[in-house]
Amino acid sequence: MAARKYSRQRECIKQDLVGRYDHPTAEMVYESVRKKYSNISLGTVYRNLTLLAEDGEILRLNCGEGFDRFDGNTNPHYHFLCRKCGRVTDVMIPEAGHPDFMHMEGCRGRIDGYMVYFYGICEDCLEAEQEEENPQKAVDSRISV
Ligand SMILES: [Zn+2]
Ligand SMILES: [Zn+2]
Repeated sequence: MAARKYSRQRECIKQDLVGRYDHPTAEMVYESVRKKYSNISLGTVYRNLTLLAEDGEILRLNCGEGFDRFDGNTNPHYHFLCRKCGRVTDVMIPEAGHPDFMHMEGCRGRIDGYMVYFYGICEDCLEAEQEEENPQKAVDSRISV
């Protein structure tokens, strides 16, 4: 594949992603990059994110929410989506700990890749839930620490 023409805006978009761990949507990247390139458009950001993902420089995630998120960390890892606050965090699983999805017996045809995401309630939301249910206890435990 021929190397793409260097684009300073694309590099800026990539650097923005590499420096954050919140798995932003295109809109969130746009908000951030716009501080540097005030007249960049959301369409340009989206197009460059697509190119970067095609080139394997970033990851494009679909966590079942109906829109894509992007990740500057291209090392193999999984994602956890909080159904309450929508936060997506990284899940590291040791190599030996997950099945060989690339060679699944039950799947006919050739597997080129896979996407796995976990969903539930994140630590912060769980804590907030507990405080709501039992405010006094939460205060007590905070004092005793
Ligand atoms: Zn949450
Ligand atoms: Zn990630």
